[in-house]
Parts: sequence; structure tokens; C-alpha cells
Amino acid sequence: MWAIELEKVSKSFGAHRVLIDLDLQVRPSEKVTLIGPSGSGKTTVLRLAMTLEKPTAGNIRVFGKSILFDAAGKPLSSSEEARMRRRCGMVFQQFNLFPHLTVLQNLVLAPRTVLRQSRDQAEKSALEYLRMVGLETKVHAYPAQLSGGQQQRIAIARALILKPEILLLDEITSALDPELTREVLGVVQDVARETKVTVLIVTHEMRFAREVSDRIVVFHAGRIIEQGSPDKIFSNPESARTRSFLKCVL
Ligand code: ADP
Repeated sequence: MWAIELEKVSKSFGAHRVLIDLDLQVRPSEKVTLIGPSGSGKTTVLRLAMTLEKPTAGNIRVFGKSILFDAAGKPLSSSEEARMRRRCGMVFQQFNLFPHLTVLQNLVLAPRTVLRQSRDQAEKSALEYLRMVGLETKVHAYPAQLSGGQQQRIAIARALILKPEILLLDEITSALDPELTREVLGVVQDVARETKVTVLIVTHEMRFAREVSDRIVVFHAGRIIEQGSPDKIFSNPESARTRSFLKCVL
């Protein structure tokens, strides 16, 4: 069974067709990175998986279950949709931590309110994920006392604490300098190894893409033009469009 599967997904904003008949399948525990020119539809794929957008046509399944329709093919109710949304966790370019809350308070908020966990339970799990991202010593720090890389690692822990089946990473290193990018890259690799979570990544950082991914998927104008291992895509791309994109970004 696929961890996530997009079947003939199209998305338009008005007359603008952003995704066209897209098919994409991701295996459980696979780390897949979407690359391609700005505006080619990569972030829209993540937003659809997170049900922040609805496709114009097509279906999206997470571990075999549609996040859009019930078994009878009817659109999900808003409460069913909210439940489906929890199957994916998303981390954004801007870390979006609450500045007036400590690291621990940021982490326990969703488990307490969404999962209705006890304080003890939520704090225990917060410490476990803080350890995973290597920041257990920062438990009582405020976001402003942390580097950008550390804040992003906390944002990753905050997404993981809800135990998503799919982790969606949208340009998570774009606001970071190269050294901090390395640090976040290492954490994504540790997390993927330790949790076996399936990861879907959008990034403009080709080094990040190359090092972290099992597979690279190349987008152009709302379609997938090529996909394969990082070695194949970066060393021996088949498509002229991939070659010209890589020439611009490498
Ligand atoms: P990428 O991540 O590859 O840069 P996006 O998925 O962010 O591309 O966007 C694809 C296209 O969809 C862009 O042209 C963008 O302007 C358009 N788009 C995205 N979201 C909206 C929206 N809410 N309303 C209108 N157009 C949008």
C-alpha cells in the first residue's frame, strides 16, 4: 500500500491550471523531494495533502484511505476532514513558534488541546521528541533565545509530536544560512531513520534534496516531467527541462 497517493489530481485557481492530471505515489518511509521552477505546483501538492486546498479533480489517499471522500464517494464532513488533516504534519519556512511560550509549552499545546493528553503524558512525549532533534537542554528556553536552525528543529518536533503518518516539509531551510541548513538536514535524516515517517519535501536547496531524498520528482508547469534517484536526477537527467532547471540552481 502507498503511504500517499495522488490519482489524476488537478488543481486550478480560476483559469490558472496549477496541477494537471498528476499521479504520484510514495512508499511508506520513503523520503521524496519535489523540485522544479517556482510556480510549477510543488507547494500546492503539500497543501493538498494537508487538506489546506481541495483539488479540482482527482483523489488523494493516505495509507489507502481517501482524505477527500468517504467510502460512498461523498465529500467528507468537516469533522472527518479535520481527522484526516491530522494524518499529515507540516513544517513551513517560517517556524511559526509562539514567541511568548517556552519550547516545552510550544510542544505540549497541540497534544493537550487536539489529542486531549494529560500534562504528564504531553510533557513526556515533548521531551522524547526534543531529544530526537537534539534540543532537550532548551526545554525552558523561549524561541527568541534560539538560533533559526534550533527553532526549525523545534518546529519539526512540534509536527512529530502529533505522530503524523506523513511529514510535509515546505522550504524549511530557505530562511537559514548554510551551516544551519546542514544542522536541520541532519535532524531530518535522524527523524526519518528513528520514526520511519514518510517525508515529502519541497526545497530549492539542491544539496539538501540530494542528501536527504530517496527519490527526486521534477515538476514543470503542473506536471511531473521526470523522477528518479538523486544520483540519476543530478548526474544524469533525461529531460532537457530538468537539465536547464538544474543549470540555473546548481
Ligand atoms: P511552487 O511551489 O512550485 O513554487 P506553487 O504550488 O506554490 O508552486 O504555486 C503554483 C502556482 O499556483 C503559482 O503560479 C501560484 O501563483 C499559484 N497559486 C498558488 N496558490 C494560489 C492561490 N491560493 N490563489 C491563486 N493562485 C495560487
